[in-house]
Amino acid sequence: MTLIQDTLEIVRKRNPHEPEFLQAVTEVLESIEPAVQRNKKYREGSLLQRLVEPERMIVFRVPWQDDRGQVQVHRGFRIQMNSAIGPYKGGLRFHPTVCASVLKFLAFEQVFKNSLTTLPMGGGKGGSDFDPKGKSDGEVMRFCQSFMTEVFRHVGPDTDVPAGDIGVGGREIGYLFGQYKRLANEFTGVLTGKGLAWGGSLIRPEATGYGCVYFAEEMLKTRNETLEDKVCAVSGSGNAAQYTVEKLLHKGAKVVTMSDSNGFIHDKDGITEEKLAWIMDLKNVRRGRIKEYADKFGAVYAEGKRPWGVECDCAFPSATQNEIGAEDAKTLLGNGCTLVCEAANMPTDPAGIDLFLSKKILYGPGKAANAGGVATSGLEMVQNSMRLPWTRAEVDQRLHQIMVTIHQNAFETAKAYGHPGNLVVGANIAGFVKVADAMLDQGVV
Ligand code: NDP
Repeated sequence: MTLIQDTLEIVRKRNPHEPEFLQAVTEVLESIEPAVQRNKKYREGSLLQRLVEPERMIVFRVPWQDDRGQVQVHRGFRIQMNSAIGPYKGGLRFHPTVCASVLKFLAFEQVFKNSLTTLPMGGGKGGSDFDPKGKSDGEVMRFCQSFMTEVFRHVGPDTDVPAGDIGVGGREIGYLFGQYKRLANEFTGVLTGKGLAWGGSLIRPEATGYGCVYFAEEMLKTRNETLEDKVCAVSGSGNAAQYTVEKLLHKGAKVVTMSDSNGFIHDKDGITEEKLAWIMDLKNVRRGRIKEYADKFGAVYAEGKRPWGVECDCAFPSATQNEIGAEDAKTLLGNGCTLVCEAANMPTDPAGIDLFLSKKILYGPGKAANAGGVATSGLEMVQNSMRLPWTRAEVDQRLHQIMVTIHQNAFETAKAYGHPGNLVVGANIAGFVKVADAMLDQGVV
């Protein structure tokens, strides 16, 4: 057995009921093998074992009162995975599927993603099995206040800086920040994704989607192609999806699908900027379902389905983990899809990834392609520290440069380790090397 397989065996034994965490760890460890083989220092000091064990996991009760006066109880988490290169940084997810396995996979991915951004941020993730859908603003506020009442003692601008993720947008960040401020009696950059009037950064809401499209452009450049006139399938209709679609439209692409957890819409004529503005109002203000788009604009609606059966040149999974399985991947390839760029985290399962890599299509793994979100959170932290906001153009230009650098780094690293074009290997090794070297520099911690 190799060191990688030995380490995976330990992870399996120690976390037997955590399939998502095992999936993420397996993908990373197997793809960094060339770097571990080449460098003795990575095989010593139980470095890999330390890497796969969170530095700290905080699990807590979140009691709150609903509008009927009933007390509801949820479970809260903050996983502080690795602080070798900076304070823990990563989003909060509020969704019924949240559990230790999902958050540990996300925290683990975050470590390498943050390393790729070129900014000094460690990796963390948190959240709760609370579902904000169908709750009143008052209920969401009381939940957020209760969540922060516990988590505030574990976070801080130089310790751990959470942000949004599924189910946590501007509204939730506002309630969480307000409660932190009351408890800590200080106004600091403890969260990112804040409102513009109270420490937020321009472009942060757009950053995950815009960054993902900038990354796709870089991938296409390696084949002398652009996004102009490309037919694109996008999943999701939340933050990541909305701004992926917006930037694709700026680049002259035609977007024909979006979805939510109930189904997807297929608009053969393409989603225009006006239609997208309607979707943003539907999702961010009225908090309705994507089906309403089909009724409004006469598009096709497929209940309970994902959009991967629609003919497209490029696919941008932007909803959730494991939303592209082997069958979906085969269908996409069969329909002529030549680029998959992940705005979501781990949306393609291992069999799907193997298919994309074996067919040598352009495949941008989430930890590289969606790193623009956390990178711009890092830029929000910089502005908070300076107490000086940057212009929209300045933040966008920095985001663009970071995405170009991440692509170049992953591309060059893949080549240097004998896997040209394989951005899974490239991103994982490039992210790993920086974190591993920092851990080694800091001794047995
Ligand atoms: P949002 O909550 O804004 O939107 C999530 C979207 O995905 C919604 O349309 C939601 O539909 C859909 N969705 C969620 N769960 C499922 C599911 N199990 N099956 C089908 N559809 C689902 O979240 P974000 O846009 O922020 O996050 C989307 C993805 O992007 C996640 O993987 C997240 O980790 C990743 N990401 C987000 C970043 C950010 O800055 N926000 C940064 C980097 C990555 P419904 O409303 O019906 O639940």
